[in-house]
Amino acid sequence: MWFDKNLEEIFKELSVDIVEGLSSSEIEVRKNKYGLNKLATKKKKSILQLILAQLNDMLIYILIVAAVISALIGEISDAAIIGIVIIINAIVGVIQESKAEKALDALKKLSVPKAIVKRDGKLIEIESYEIVPGDIVIIDAGRYIPCDLRLIETANLKIDESSLTGESVPVEKDAKTRFESSSVPIGDQKNMAFMSTLATYGRGVGIAVATGMNTQIGKIANMLNEENDSKTPLQKKLDETGRFLGFSALAVCIIMFLIGMLQKRNLFEMFLTSISLAVAAIPEGLPAIVTIVLAIGVQRMIKNNAIVRTLPAIETLGSVNIICSDKTGTLTQNKMTVTKFYCDGSFEEINKLNLQNPIHKLMLESFVLCNDASYSQYKETGDPTEIALLSAGVKFNIFKEEIEKIHKRVDEIPFDSDRKLMTTVNYFDGKYYVITKGAIDSLLNKCSSIYMNNKIITLNDEDRNNIMEISNKMSYEALRVLGTAYKIIPSEHVEIDSLEKDLTFLGIVGMIDPPREEVKDSINICNSSGIRTVMITGDHKNTALAIAKKLNIAENESQAISGIELDNMDDEDLSNRVDDLRVFARVSPEHKVKIVKALKSKGYIVSMTGDGVNDAPSLRIADIGVAMGITGTDVAKGASDIILTDDNFSTIVSAIKEGRNIYNNIKKSVIFLLSCNIGEIFALFIAILFGWSTPLSPIHILWINLITDTLPALSLGVDTGDPDIMKLKPRKSNESLFKNSVVYLLLNGLLIGTLTLIAFTIGMNKFPDYKESLIYARTMAFVVLCISQLIHSLNMRSENKSIFQIGIFSNKYLIGSIIIGILLQISLLTIHTLAVIFKVTNLAIQDWIFVILLCLIPLILNEIIKIFKRKFSR
Ligand code: ATP
Repeated sequence: MWFDKNLEEIFKELSVDIVEGLSSSEIEVRKNKYGLNKLATKKKKSILQLILAQLNDMLIYILIVAAVISALIGEISDAAIIGIVIIINAIVGVIQESKAEKALDALKKLSVPKAIVKRDGKLIEIESYEIVPGDIVIIDAGRYIPCDLRLIETANLKIDESSLTGESVPVEKDAKTRFESSSVPIGDQKNMAFMSTLATYGRGVGIAVATGMNTQIGKIANMLNEENDSKTPLQKKLDETGRFLGFSALAVCIIMFLIGMLQKRNLFEMFLTSISLAVAAIPEGLPAIVTIVLAIGVQRMIKNNAIVRTLPAIETLGSVNIICSDKTGTLTQNKMTVTKFYCDGSFEEINKLNLQNPIHKLMLESFVLCNDASYSQYKETGDPTEIALLSAGVKFNIFKEEIEKIHKRVDEIPFDSDRKLMTTVNYFDGKYYVITKGAIDSLLNKCSSIYMNNKIITLNDEDRNNIMEISNKMSYEALRVLGTAYKIIPSEHVEIDSLEKDLTFLGIVGMIDPPREEVKDSINICNSSGIRTVMITGDHKNTALAIAKKLNIAENESQAISGIELDNMDDEDLSNRVDDLRVFARVSPEHKVKIVKALKSKGYIVSMTGDGVNDAPSLRIADIGVAMGITGTDVAKGASDIILTDDNFSTIVSAIKEGRNIYNNIKKSVIFLLSCNIGEIFALFIAILFGWSTPLSPIHILWINLITDTLPALSLGVDTGDPDIMKLKPRKSNESLFKNSVVYLLLNGLLIGTLTLIAFTIGMNKFPDYKESLIYARTMAFVVLCISQLIHSLNMRSENKSIFQIGIFSNKYLIGSIIIGILLQISLLTIHTLAVIFKVTNLAIQDWIFVILLCLIPLILNEIIKIFKRKFSR
């Protein structure tokens, strides 16, 4: 047992030096010995299993039966072609699925949490699966515990162990706890931290004692079944639509078969035709195409700094109409610089600070000591607010590492965005100094005196008003304001609750944090695309409003509200006012939940940003939770739908744009596939109804299905985005994929079917001999059906823009697919062996010209309709 051993024993057993950590060479040895720090996952399917899964489908069974029957009655070439279709279908299916899966796997890898470890004497951040037993691991609030740890050091560390023990209240941890007994339940092992639990408060250091499947969670979850890949609402809807269309197609085929029987047609041919048509008309490729398009979209988004953690998020993104954004770091650069101070009666530029004045000196030292960041010429780590304070110290030759050696930190209460304060206790010269820094309003509530004119005097109302006035002045200039206060206590052992109390006020500083340059443009884009931007910040109302005005988020004070005002509103009040509000200042994470609820109650689709542990609830209830990749905690990331790897507001806007485009592209593929299918059904159905010969043989139908359902449909799915997409209003979340498209889809289907029949009829009158004419007519119908569908794919690229406006060649994949399709079609007719197998013949040159003209008709008609659409919409 690790919890009942003493630390020396553990260090010896794991042979590690606590100061230096493990050495690089030792890590290699241990990696080989213990393997990666990962939980085993479900085994991946083999290629053979994937292929078999593709074949396990009712339609394929029917096709196999059809192939066998064809072979039995001597139609060997039909049987062979059906066989080839089955194989190609399976291969395409496997490729599509494994591509989609790979993309999703890559995604999962991207959101693997990182861990901070001490190796070769240095602190470094590594992927948590690289941890080996013996590693010294640093824990801070918001991080996942990456493996089982025996704690060496803790400062108010609390860990949420619900994933392991089911206990929902975070457990307080204490490295100093000793156990005599060796049978202590996991939940009580206070000197241990366990893999996949979450640090919610404080910080600590631990030594890795078990990794991977040897951890407690590894033992329980012997085999971690990865969560079932959830389908997106669109995928679910499409499944339903697919099923409906499938049944309808089947019904049409059966009716056709019955009519054929009544007309005493060749039963075998009718059987094959019906089956082929069923195979062609049932959009079985649709789900795979949608997954691929979504997965490719996800990849594209990663390149633009947004990691989408769940596929449904992509769709929701397209309908977001409110973006709630943090201020610091997301709208602003998070590069803070202290510019002003107020201390001992003087309100000046920071360079006027006078270290000869003991109060000035004490103020600056307090800001440096009550600080978790580190700062040197070469490297800075930590919270930018704190870095700014250290950098101000360095300018006056006050270095944290040096003064911290003399003023040793003995206790602390970490910063949290509810209290908006941070406190340390430092021992110096026989005394214990309590130093608190934080937001002025919170800090003043904890102060009872002020250090001025070399005296500590009672803090009266006038002083308070004066301080607030100066703080307001700073915040009107968009400065972030931070104050500090202190007191001396007799002993280190003071109740933690009584530390932030009766403090002596020292002074305040104001720091600038310029807005990010690109953000203003992004907000203007939002304004013109029906998306409202709302700023939610822990910062002061005036500071927040000043920046909001600069960025065109808000215009006047009535659009800003503070956390205290929010507290005085019930949900209904807020919901009544929420439409007018653009800035929520001095809010704590709980307020964020209230705000999201109010916005959602008004029917908005809300995206909300967050980074801290306490932001998780609001990220979860927002339609799109957005976590910060750089400053965000693992908890926030775990609760989010999207992670911004650059913490930048503009990335949210480009993700929304991408989301809209992806949705549109899926729509294009689906409508394209369906209009083609309708064309095929229509041509055959009409011919059979009127007692004509069937215009296409079964293998023609299967072939066309192979050519159009794959490459062109996929290429439409990855079409270039519409540059004007952000000029449109957001799509309603419950809007049907077929909105405004049913008539379009039917008409185009009917048009393609009619053209096919025209070609067939003309072909039938070519020769006196019926048989000769039939082959010729079928060839013409076959060519028209196939090529007109390929060309029709160009129509799908925009609802009202001309293909020449978009640029014919701007989707190279689509052009490539069309060319490949046409070349294959030509080779079928011109290569003798293929022509024999497919029962086609080459066309005379004038007939080629004629069919090509027929194939262009859908393009020409659609272009004409688009001209009217553009005129009309203007
Ligand atoms: P946003 O929510 O937009 O990121 P924010 O960073 O200002 O805004 P918080 O981090 O919750 O929000 O900070 C709220 C307030 O707490 C700040 O205005 C500041 O006064 C104070 N504060 C911020 N960081 C610290 C810190 N490290 N120590 C003490 N006080 C801090």
